[in-house]
Amino acid sequence: MTNELLRYFRAKEKERASETAAATQCPFCSVQCTLQLVEERIVERRRYKAVPTDNPTSNGRLCLKGMNAHQHALHPERLLVPLAKVDGRFVRVRWEEALSLIAERIISIQKEDGVDAFAVYGGGSLTNEEAYLLGKFARVALKTRHIDYNGRFCMSAAAAAMNDAFGLDRGLTNPLSDIPLAQTIILAGTNVAECQPTLMPYVYEAKKNGAFIIVVDPRETKTAALADLHLPLKPGTDAALAVGIGKVLLDEGYIDEAFVRERTVGFAEWKQHIEAVEMDEIVRLTDVPEEKIRLAARKYGEAADAIVLTARGLEQQTDGYAAVRQWINVVLATGNIGRPGSGFGSITGQGNGQGGREHGQKADQLPGYRSIEHPQHRRYIASVWGVAPDELPRKGVSAYEMMQKIDAGEITGLLVMGSNPVVSSPNAAFVAKAMQKLKFLVVADMFLSETAELADLVLPVSSYLEDEGTVTNVEGRVCFRPAARKRLGEVKHDWEILCDIACKLGKGRFFPFTSAEEIFNELRLASRGGKADYYGVTYERLRRERVYWPCPDAHHPGTPRLFTERFAHPDGKARFAVLPFRPEKEETDEWYPLYLTTGRVLAHYLSGTQTRRSPALSARQPEAVVEIHPRTAKRYGIGPGMLVRIETRRGAAVVRSRYNDQIREDTIFVPFHWSGLGQINNVTSDELDPHCRMPAFKRCAARVRPVVDLGRN
Ligand code: SF4
Repeated sequence: MTNELLRYFRAKEKERASETAAATQCPFCSVQCTLQLVEERIVERRRYKAVPTDNPTSNGRLCLKGMNAHQHALHPERLLVPLAKVDGRFVRVRWEEALSLIAERIISIQKEDGVDAFAVYGGGSLTNEEAYLLGKFARVALKTRHIDYNGRFCMSAAAAAMNDAFGLDRGLTNPLSDIPLAQTIILAGTNVAECQPTLMPYVYEAKKNGAFIIVVDPRETKTAALADLHLPLKPGTDAALAVGIGKVLLDEGYIDEAFVRERTVGFAEWKQHIEAVEMDEIVRLTDVPEEKIRLAARKYGEAADAIVLTARGLEQQTDGYAAVRQWINVVLATGNIGRPGSGFGSITGQGNGQGGREHGQKADQLPGYRSIEHPQHRRYIASVWGVAPDELPRKGVSAYEMMQKIDAGEITGLLVMGSNPVVSSPNAAFVAKAMQKLKFLVVADMFLSETAELADLVLPVSSYLEDEGTVTNVEGRVCFRPAARKRLGEVKHDWEILCDIACKLGKGRFFPFTSAEEIFNELRLASRGGKADYYGVTYERLRRERVYWPCPDAHHPGTPRLFTERFAHPDGKARFAVLPFRPEKEETDEWYPLYLTTGRVLAHYLSGTQTRRSPALSARQPEAVVEIHPRTAKRYGIGPGMLVRIETRRGAAVVRSRYNDQIREDTIFVPFHWSGLGQINNVTSDELDPHCRMPAFKRCAARVRPVVDLGRN
């Protein structure tokens, strides 16, 4: 072809090419980075690319997941029509048939087995509007007490601890922009570099300003790699470590007596308790040398301003609540809270892990963080919903306990929305078996997830690209996410499905919504006067700015920094807590000599339903691996890249080995984003924290051995 001809065809192609861009927000982690999804059409071909946009949280940054978040939303496996299982196979049904079937099954199950026999299971990635409506749907349309959500596995320990200590649970007490102002930062059980990568620049900036960074983790994670001090504690001993730090602060005179006197209660009891603790015991429990514990405490105690951030590493334990309270004790004892650069936080994992827990998806909560057992709270919400207070059910049980009730035959019908509990629950093989006992399981999802595969009916829902709504990010900022594309096929929004089912049940008058904004306006009213007060936040305002709650009226600027003057308890004071710190949890023995801990990797999100379908993310990490210290691996005859059988007291999983000489020799780490043979949650512990019902994902006893490859000589 001559150059002239080439030029001619290129010019023609350019003529026929077009480009559109739509604003959206990454659906994955709690940062909620914003982006433009650019669609290039060149003749018949379409190409998509994500271009980061500016906002005051992520400041124009986007991580690998956000760059590729459109890939699953545009994936050919997206469900586009409702599917009913007939003779073990899914067949297409019309929406009208699907909705009638759901209503008929709900009515018959509640008649046969009682109103509480039909349960609802939600998710922390649903928008605020959908999370709110799911709670209302359970209480008003179904009248069931059984509703909970996957955030129980995420934020429940920190939420309960912050509520009890401060009187209020918001993930971060300070805006992220306070991080660079701190002189010491403790990151305890949080691997921000992989889980919320676009937050790392806040830590880099702090380091540049001279901050001393302390990371507490059994592995030297990517976050730990930048630390000035890494405390590689034995898994599950975080509470003891915080007690050790508290002891040094007390012994060496780092207590802020004025703060303690004026703004807290319970210090004397805490002091007495801590004074009786022996450092030798802390060292024995945590396996962290005393000089390192002392250095960490001194750096924290000396700092004019300091921040402690925790996450699932210390929270997903049978004493996760106690571990968070012990760190809060340290914060209160030194008065490091309520100032720019001084605060506490638990970094939310899921996209709407914050908003999803504020407005009624939790078994014991009503919108605005109201309690379902509090007479005045019940009266207020009943008045907003137009029902009698007595009609509202009482509190139910936590997410995993719902699964136990399914196994026991007490719950016989279930609606799952925005979650995949068959992969994300602890002891997941038990959960999958229990779910097969249900008389009726309906799942609303974008894909035929592992949970949807077990369903009698699967409802196709819109993706983040198609669903307008709000989410509340890691900072407690309410963010508006516009719809960037038209819906595909016959998919409906989650909120539309709830309204449609309610209509079929004869409860349509309580669910008259025709847009997400209408639901949000009711949510604002329902949250008014509650702890998580959104009344002053409107869509009109959110189109211009991200607003921190509490925001009680339209003229209120929002509340970036909490507890500057008083805490949220009626007396305005924070509470110290005296709690046990000696781990009473699954121990290693001669049969199960290693600690198994689980977590996330950069390329994947939660149960992997979305990210495993993204070619770019899947290529980055196609399967689960076990991170194992080379010396441990050699002891068991495991070479790098070999298939390894991991056994615990509950079962086995098989994954490939990856040597890591920066992990404790007594500990192995496996990410939880996969199903099938590599599904590590099939073997994790289902022991629950007595305070918040958080399962013990982060520590159980395990053994490993190489899988013998019969094909090899
Ligand atoms: Fe931002 Fe989190 Fe999405 Fe990454 S996964 S782009 S950090 S919201």
